[in-house]
Amino acid sequence: MKIHNFSAGPCILPQVVFDKMAQACLDFNNSGTSILEISHRRKDAVEVMDTARALVKELMNVPETHDVVFMQGGASLQFPTVAYNLLREGGKAAYTQTGKWAENAIKEAKRFGEIEVIASSKDKNYNYIPKGYPIPADVDYFHCTSNNTIFGTQMKEFPTSSVPLVCDMSSDILSRDIDVSKFGVIYAGAQKNMGPAGSAVAIVQKDLLGKTGRNIPDYLNYDVHIKKESSFNTWPVIAIYGVMLNLQWLKEQGGVEEISKINTAKADAMYHEIDRNGLFTGTAATEDRSQMNATFVLNNEILKADFDAMLKEAGVVSLAGHRDVGGYRASMYNALPLESVEVLIEVMKQFEQQFG
Ligand SMILES: *Cc1c(COP(=O)(O)O)cnc(C)c1O
Repeated sequence: MKIHNFSAGPCILPQVVFDKMAQACLDFNNSGTSILEISHRRKDAVEVMDTARALVKELMNVPETHDVVFMQGGASLQFPTVAYNLLREGGKAAYTQTGKWAENAIKEAKRFGEIEVIASSKDKNYNYIPKGYPIPADVDYFHCTSNNTIFGTQMKEFPTSSVPLVCDMSSDILSRDIDVSKFGVIYAGAQKNMGPAGSAVAIVQKDLLGKTGRNIPDYLNYDVHIKKESSFNTWPVIAIYGVMLNLQWLKEQGGVEEISKINTAKADAMYHEIDRNGLFTGTAATEDRSQMNATFVLNNEILKADFDAMLKEAGVVSLAGHRDVGGYRASMYNALPLESVEVLIEVMKQFEQQFG
């Protein structure tokens, strides 16, 4: 049976990525060795890293002022890394609190200095994006989360200010056009939209580094990773290979511009059905709805077992909402085909016919 994987992360990747990764596990580049047993310094491994970094630069139009590094530890290690690299001793940073991951980013940054939460949507269980808040001019940077994976909200625009803009784009990087030049640092755990789990990407404006007066451990120092071209220590060749293949696939689809049209089509279809179908209600404020993660609940919880059975029957998997929101979450990352969204919508329609 065909499976339609709506997982919030690690997420679906294109079939060609799975095929090539599987082959590389058996024999990488006809070398007689598996990608799992080779040195990250072997020539064709270095090529994987170089190609992955170059593709991020190309697909996101990264300007010369910025560089791209891959690190381990996921987005969670980027939370303290950002503060370590940008927050001066005795300095201050401003954060928006728009979800669980933003909370975690704040918690980690607080270890390094004064964190001012300048806007929060916690009052409504993070179902909207705060807007119109002033960003203080005396902070070292302003941090926001572009897409709140758990709550299904997404920033449609980014505030401008005189201070560097830092953004956790874990769950919508490469899904829509972004002007990288407006950001000091963009970071993302790979496993939401960029590849398999095992790495995080950071896109860093180089002239922001080296100003904190801190004695930064080498691994957490962006400058070290930039100078070592992301080969400071042993990196997971298989994971970066997966990222590289996925980025190559994205380029073949026409890049971010083309995929963003498909993402809009998927999200529009999904939300249209959530709004049309009397058995469901969307949980996020309409104007802040995420194109990546659509969150919705059953109006009548008693019908849950019936709906779940129909989903299973149709091959729809990993649609359960996060425990903080409940209900359902349809994650529609780049690799999820429109066809899968159509299958889910069909199930919702049939469910309405039977139980509505
Ligand atoms: C999943 C997620 C994280 C955490 O990612 P890890 O790589 O597991 O540390 C952080 N931020 C956002 C927005 C996420 O969706």
